[in-house]
Amino acid sequence: MVGGNAPISVQSMTKTDTRDIKATVEQIGQMARAGCQIVRAAVPDMEAAAALAAIRARTPVPLVADIHFDHRLAIAAINAGVDGLRLNPGNISRREHLEKVVSSARERQIPIRVGVNAGSLPADYRADESVPQRMAALAEEHIRLLESMDFGLIKVSLKAFDVLTTVQAHEIIADRIPYPFHLGITEAGPPATGTVRSALGIGILLHMGIGDTIRVSLSGDPLLEVDAGREILRALDLMQGGPSIISCPTCGRAMLDVVGISSRLSEYLRGVDMALRVAVMGCAVNGPGECKAADVGIAGGVDKVALYRGGAFLRAVPTEQAFAALIQEISALIATGSSEEATSKR
Ligand code: SF4
Repeated sequence: MVGGNAPISVQSMTKTDTRDIKATVEQIGQMARAGCQIVRAAVPDMEAAAALAAIRARTPVPLVADIHFDHRLAIAAINAGVDGLRLNPGNISRREHLEKVVSSARERQIPIRVGVNAGSLPADYRADESVPQRMAALAEEHIRLLESMDFGLIKVSLKAFDVLTTVQAHEIIADRIPYPFHLGITEAGPPATGTVRSALGIGILLHMGIGDTIRVSLSGDPLLEVDAGREILRALDLMQGGPSIISCPTCGRAMLDVVGISSRLSEYLRGVDMALRVAVMGCAVNGPGECKAADVGIAGGVDKVALYRGGAFLRAVPTEQAFAALIQEISALIATGSSEEATSKR
């Protein structure tokens, strides 16, 4: 479910060639295991549309077909069993073609997401208005087109690279339409900067009470998009559970490879739903305090690390065995499904 009282969902998009069924199914599986709840795939041609049936049959999460311009691709995708379309009605040049798409979507009861992107606004479209105004007006125009065909299974997205433009476009339209919003900052950039831009744009809107599903767009691995999306929801208390890694920035006092261990730990914990707090600290300055507040933690020392579990010191472990010891305690906690030892002390 998207919209209404449904939890806000995290989605992402495959980066494989959709015609490569094996690679696409494999990537969707990885995304789903990482916590992705809706997956979108590009449908550039009929071969890609035909591949969707096999992909859908082996896909554990809802699949959305991303269509531009060609109504035949949309109909082929619907017939292949997809669970939603991303399509701009205004990009389908003839009304009768759009009516065919809408009729097929209605028959299958699948939604259409109207997606307006600041980068692809028609050049002459309401040139006297600001970009957010133009985005909102274009989205409304597309929505009214679908409504004129008695279709209401609509999701809406208004995306720009610019955070404030994205926010303003939503502010204009949010109270005027009753449909769920898919949030994102488009073409946000490489992972480091793109995550920051996305967290700000999506975070501001979610905090305003706008948004029903989110996608972080990064020039990078889709798993990073899923990680970032989940982290945004967790940071705003919109998603419960999942691991948190408390790791220090390291400094000249560090007696542990905090950066390497926390990075390997992120990979290990990807997709874990259990609420779990893990501390990786470089030395005794803040190490014991953070480890005591965590479910599992390590703090660097001379040749050894102090290993904590459930808020209490467990034992000293040779530094080279620190990661293995940490994983051993975490997997034991996950196996018992209990992280209340330390969390109850927080
Ligand atoms: S915990 Fe120690 S190593 Fe880490 S930043 Fe603080 S002082 Fe530096």
